[in-house]
Amino acid sequence: MAKLPAALVAAGSVMVKRSAVPAGLKYPEYRPHLRRDFFFSCGYCTMCEGEAEARRFEIDHYEPQGARTDLIHEYSNLMYSCDECNNLKGPRCPTEEARKAGIRFYRRTVTCVVSTSAPMVSGSNH
Ligand SMILES: [Zn+2]
Repeated sequence: MAKLPAALVAAGSVMVKRSAVPAGLKYPEYRPHLRRDFFFSCGYCTMCEGEAEARRFEIDHYEPQGARTDLIHEYSNLMYSCDECNNLKGPRCPTEEARKAGIRFYRRTVTCVVSTSAPMVSGSNH
């Protein structure tokens, strides 16, 4: 694997590359791969399946299905997510401007947007 520029790796963090998966599957068929690649945890709040109690885990489309029909079955667009995070995120994703600022996902437990390179931005995601 190529070494990532230091600016992309936060101190104390680890970058994880997704597994190579078979192409051409329908998105529900990627579930076992997603579970493994997300360490059996929600990609947004990091709650693991063992902590989930009554919550279910779902497959979220990072680029919403309604906005990007071409990515519905694209593995790299899929996120393993608890149902609560998936419902809160809904059909939203960061705007192009937000992406350029490094904002990449919504987080359920706090009302802020978390970024890999920009400082935390407070505000509601509703
Ligand atoms: Zn979650």
